[in-house]
Amino acid sequence: ARNFFIGGNWKMNGSVAQVKSLVEGLNTINVPTQTEVVVSPPALYIDRVRANLKKDIGVAAQNSYVKASGAYTGEISPEQLKDLGINWVILGHSERREYFAESDKFVGQKTAHALKAGVSVIACIGEKLEEREANITSQVVTRQLKGIADEINDWTNVVVAYEPVWAIGTGKVATPEQAEEVHVTLRAWLASNVSQKVADSVRIIYGGSVNAKNAAELGKHCNAWASHSLTHSLISLLFLIATKPNIDGFLVGGASLKATDFNTIVQARL
Ligand code: 13P
Repeated sequence: ARNFFIGGNWKMNGSVAQVKSLVEGLNTINVPTQTEVVVSPPALYIDRVRANLKKDIGVAAQNSYVKASGAYTGEISPEQLKDLGINWVILGHSERREYFAESDKFVGQKTAHALKAGVSVIACIGEKLEEREANITSQVVTRQLKGIADEINDWTNVVVAYEPVWAIGTGKVATPEQAEEVHVTLRAWLASNVSQKVADSVRIIYGGSVNAKNAAELGKHCNAWASHSLTHSLISLLFLIATKPNIDGFLVGGASLKATDFNTIVQARL
């Protein structure tokens, strides 16, 4: 069985004081067994986060380059991440694809380089609203996945994050069915184009407006869990999503900036 994976992507947020208090909050989280938790601070704060965060929570960079060192002003190499004890990197986030023109191929190359350097990768893919409306979601996400598959052979240290762009930072979370459908498509693609083994073992997580609250809304539809000891808001969407067979966790943006909210999400699969 695949372990649950919860990532917290802080994006370009935080100050010295906020990072300190967030780390203190995260240090009180009880990481459930068979759940992996990784947080991703801005590069500037990564060293202090790794130094002060409890060791059962991993740390990821939000980007890395395709070279080990050299004249690449502003870039960070996975080798340098390793040097600081950073074992993860988020690559291909839609914000990087959109604002920094990262192509499918470049994301694949960065993934390959990070893996070669011993850094595990949270590889992000996801369609835009107009692509979903044009019914080309499957083509888009499999094209993005192919960009990665073309460059790597070993998927052991890759987590795929499906993040529909229309759900990121919008409060419009995908329904569990929408997310599950894409995850099934991705696994089928991997089975046909990589191997059944990779399709069965790679973790595919969902990202896009996951938080500790949106839960309550959809929770109303979740009668089966009414007798569960959790509060109604906790049952909810998170629970619905977390129990879909092909969804192995979440990549959380905004809600990962609050330790209590992030903790609720970390405990989503009970
Ligand atoms: P939000 O959770 O803020 O929608 O962001 C999701 C995301 O982009 C995580 O990488």
